[in-house]
Amino acid sequence: KMQGMANGSEEKILVLVRLRPLSDREILRNDVSDWECINETTILYRNSLQERSGLPTAYSFDRVFRGDCPTRKVYDDGTKEIALSAVSGINSTIFAYGQTSSGKTYTMNGITEYTVADIYDYIQKHEERAFVLKFAAMEIYNEVVRDLLSTDNTPLRLLDDPERGTIIERLTEETLRDWNHLKELLSICEAQRQIGETSLNETSSRSHQILRLTIESSAREFIGKDNSTTLAASVNFVDLAGSERASQALSVGQRLKEGCHINRSLLTLGTVIRKLSKGRHGHVNYRDSKLTRILQPSLGGNARTAIICTLSPARSHVEQSRNTLLFASCAK
Ligand code: ADP
Ligand code: MG
Repeated sequence: KMQGMANGSEEKILVLVRLRPLSDREILRNDVSDWECINETTILYRNSLQERSGLPTAYSFDRVFRGDCPTRKVYDDGTKEIALSAVSGINSTIFAYGQTSSGKTYTMNGITEYTVADIYDYIQKHEERAFVLKFAAMEIYNEVVRDLLSTDNTPLRLLDDPERGTIIERLTEETLRDWNHLKELLSICEAQRQIGETSLNETSSRSHQILRLTIESSAREFIGKDNSTTLAASVNFVDLAGSERASQALSVGQRLKEGCHINRSLLTLGTVIRKLSKGRHGHVNYRDSKLTRILQPSLGGNARTAIICTLSPARSHVEQSRNTLLFASCAK
């Protein structure tokens, strides 16, 4: 097994930044945008007061997408290649990172849909192979893992298998019949996402969601024969908890605990990503959080990773936007 082994062909992490448009609510309260993508790789903060503060004003990444850019383009120019590497047996992970309301879910929903459509398209064009698609979905909330395809809310345990690595005990894995079946499963996930507070946005802002699509294939001419081999890889779509949770000092009881746990997963992810992005071959601390343990086979090593950092353009969100860009800068 190559898993976890460092080899010479380590890919760097693809870092994308996506600005969203000002929302109607922000426009109504006279909020303004100070951010501008001046070309395909650089985003600028233009505000005379800020410029005098000495903080950086220009940030460069693999690719930046303006507020009026459709998700289709973010997918085509950004994550498509990485997402589709699973059809050829390479694990991949696509993250959405950013503060609550910056567009993580909006972006991931579109990207998941386009990826699956392209995978079905690929399958149709490669009749020489037999494909099986499997889908699983989970949520990590307070370092507790739950199955989003099951109404049974009991936490799932992570087990260590010497052969297969970390296994999520009892996780439902559905074999996809077709596109409509996937749509059904996605709506079940949405309904299952932890109901904690008053609004859906508040709820999802506190948990990490992982959608995992596994693609297995084998050459038809060898099926049933001794030399038949199955190619298998997963693509993971990860809608992270709001990044403000990592920096906000939450005040009391439950919220404080949540803050710490979400903090742990996001901080560990940050550390892991930083190490991977530097191509370091030393110890990577995957085991420090549930999120990184689960994603380990799809991060680093032979896997491919993209992070989409979503930004609110609003002046009132500038501090969080800067934090997001700082995280993004560490990942490149
Ligand atoms: P998050 O998941 O980061 O909390 P959402 O994806 O829920 O944020 O986005 C917040 C709101 O902004 C939603 O109403 C969403 O439809 C809208 N939105 C986000 N990104 C865009 C975009 N690029 N273009 C248009 N609307 C967007
Ligand atoms: Mg969301």
